[in-house]
Amino acid sequence: MQRRKFLKNSSALTAGILTVPIIASSETRKKPIEPSKGSIPIAICTWDFGNATAKAWEVMNKGGNSLDAVHQGVMVEENNLDNRTVGNGGRPDRDGNVTLDACIMDKDANCGAVLAIQNIANPISVARKVMEETPHVMLVGKGAEQFAYEQGFEKQNLLTKQSKKEWEEWKKTSQYKPIINIENHDTIGMLAIDKNGDIAGACTTSGMAYKMAGRVGDSPIIGAGLFVDNEVGGATATGVGEEVVRTVGSFLIVELMRQGKSPQEACEEGVKRIIAKNKDKQDFQIGFIAINKQGETGAYCIHPGFTFRTYTTEGHVNNPSGSYLKS
Ligand code: ASP
Repeated sequence: MQRRKFLKNSSALTAGILTVPIIASSETRKKPIEPSKGSIPIAICTWDFGNATAKAWEVMNKGGNSLDAVHQGVMVEENNLDNRTVGNGGRPDRDGNVTLDACIMDKDANCGAVLAIQNIANPISVARKVMEETPHVMLVGKGAEQFAYEQGFEKQNLLTKQSKKEWEEWKKTSQYKPIINIENHDTIGMLAIDKNGDIAGACTTSGMAYKMAGRVGDSPIIGAGLFVDNEVGGATATGVGEEVVRTVGSFLIVELMRQGKSPQEACEEGVKRIIAKNKDKQDFQIGFIAINKQGETGAYCIHPGFTFRTYTTEGHVNNPSGSYLKS
């Protein structure tokens, strides 16, 4: 297993397109972010996916809305073959099949999701089509794939040579053992608020590496891996999805913000709920990020090491998240 490369090679940004200063684009803050002052517009995402937040910002800077921003933002990582946890190039399940999960949600609570879809490089775009072109919210497996072809998506082999080689190596032991903060669980969840104050979110992943065939985690489940309520805010998650599903994590965080908690307080409470259900077992990572209607942000995780990107008029920064466990 290799540590994520992204932490080092954060963002090769498209200077010139953006009208705000890019401060510290490849810099990581030393301390967890303080309760943030609100900033609108804003794009934030899980982990150090700076190219994705830069894309989202570019979209909004050109007048696009938050839905287009999160859609195009997360697509950057779906198309990044070096990203082994999202989209094309993602690690396969234990049978060697790359199965992808994604969901998207807009300011009017419209949402769409695809679960365990194969052979399609941009599941987030299929999820958006599900939202906009069907009477449904979720399509799964073969049905999702068939729908994608009907919508003009191309069939592609998503298993890269590198992923295949690693999977063949993994088969020698066949141990399913997610490693904290290591590349096998780095979903991109993104939230954005556009200049009109409207919130949208998107979440996309190849899921846990070497999962059982048919396994789906939290990422494409509205309420678990992602939730947006335009009156209140949004939240999204990364980490061991089973634990996020058990607490309907993202919905919980948005509801806590509705009750008056700040995004930071709400993320902390979300993690504590998970801890409360796992008193004897904390050897897994969960990270939540959230924004409220004022553009304030929050993030919290179980183990140190989780970071999140923020792009505002103040700059583009990779921020360490506070953590429940300190080392
Ligand atoms: N949450 C994802 C899942 O359980 C994994 C991740 O965050 O990378 O499928």
